[in-house]
Amino acid sequence: MSDQALSADEIVALSKKHTMFEWSAQSAVDPIPVSHAKGSYFYTPDGKRYLDFNSQLMSVNAGHGDPRIIKAIQEQAAKLAYANPFMAHEPRARLGKKLAELCPGDIDAFFFTNGGAEANENAIKIARMYTGRSKILARYRSYHGGTAAAMALTGDPRRWAAEPSIPGVVRFPDFHKWARKDPEPVSESLRDVEEVIMFEGAKNIAAILVETVVGTNGILIPPDGYMQGLRAICDKHGILLICDEVMAGFGRTGKWFAVDHWKVTPDILTMAKGLTSSYVPLGAVGLRRRIADHFDKNVFFAGLTYNSHPMGCATALATIGVYEQDGLIERAAKMGESMKRHHQALYEKHPCVGATRSIGLFGMVELVRDRKTFEPMAPYNGTSDEMKAVHAHLKEKGLYTFVRWNGIMTNPPLTVTEEELAEGFAIIDSALSLVDKSVK
Ligand code: PLP
Repeated sequence: MSDQALSADEIVALSKKHTMFEWSAQSAVDPIPVSHAKGSYFYTPDGKRYLDFNSQLMSVNAGHGDPRIIKAIQEQAAKLAYANPFMAHEPRARLGKKLAELCPGDIDAFFFTNGGAEANENAIKIARMYTGRSKILARYRSYHGGTAAAMALTGDPRRWAAEPSIPGVVRFPDFHKWARKDPEPVSESLRDVEEVIMFEGAKNIAAILVETVVGTNGILIPPDGYMQGLRAICDKHGILLICDEVMAGFGRTGKWFAVDHWKVTPDILTMAKGLTSSYVPLGAVGLRRRIADHFDKNVFFAGLTYNSHPMGCATALATIGVYEQDGLIERAAKMGESMKRHHQALYEKHPCVGATRSIGLFGMVELVRDRKTFEPMAPYNGTSDEMKAVHAHLKEKGLYTFVRWNGIMTNPPLTVTEEELAEGFAIIDSALSLVDKSVK
């Protein structure tokens, strides 16, 4: 093969032949070849443009190709591309300090990982070491990552293939049940939690782990009182509250962290994705001071070759700098109001829209066959002809987003403009017209 650039077809064919694609039967994958990206758009080698309405994996929060982040990566690579995690270096030092300023309450010590799953793995390990207890409570409608323990913590079907999984993970009921328009009343959800704690024995439970706002399982936003209630239950029983903000953190919901909406300080806060806008891999586990102090005398059993990577830390600092300089967190809140108006217009126009949910620029449109019964347009963990048609239409029209089960995700970069939002929602509008006839 020559050194000439590969064509789009060659990129797809070679990638399919010699690399394994994520979470798919390999014969079913149909990857979009991507060559470059800027702002809210990415492009194929043969020039097709896609509006990125999912920020890739709800992660490129600062938009594609920001020159300030790229410059920081280049400068760090030239200066110190790697140092092992036993060493202290300037990006590590500065990032720890910066995150301590941004995180809620007394979360002021950070362990830097390669991504979100590894952050959650370490979060539960730390909770077990700190409390001396073993069980972790997690919910069904959740995703916490694709490594062994993170899959065990995950409630959705992505965990099935890895079962039987790690011992000690116990599920508790969701605050928003499948195929329901509205969440459960807060008092009932909290009573469910208390009941599971009673059956499992509070003294055996190290932590409750939740996505503060649930991401891929449907952008589920806890009603006011739920997070505060979880916090109070944890305090009552000496259980740690771990909030997974791998997806919800760094402005996605219109605040630095989703917990800020409810003024709750978790004991452990995990993050990744928006931390670097995914320009390079980095995750983090944030610890409240008393938990960090526990490891003054007790060994902190954690560490991989790439932890606290200088490239990751430098990229995160530059990314946070961009969020601050451009006011992107506030912008997400403001543009989130525009997104709500677009959602509402779709709800009013299309009988197939059963519900829309959003907080900041974290949103989704949920399709149903019947608004009264809320029968989903696709079954749990499945698809349908209608959802396949929606997906194909969006792709053809150049809108990239996740169509998952009966939902269409709407999660553009925080830099998205009014015009881009209008462009994306016009394409979704046209896709929904294909589906309305399936409504009973
Ligand atoms: N937690 C949540 C809420 C996520 O959405 C994800 C990824 O989508 C993860 C954890 C896993 O993160 P990573 O893919 O970086 O390991």
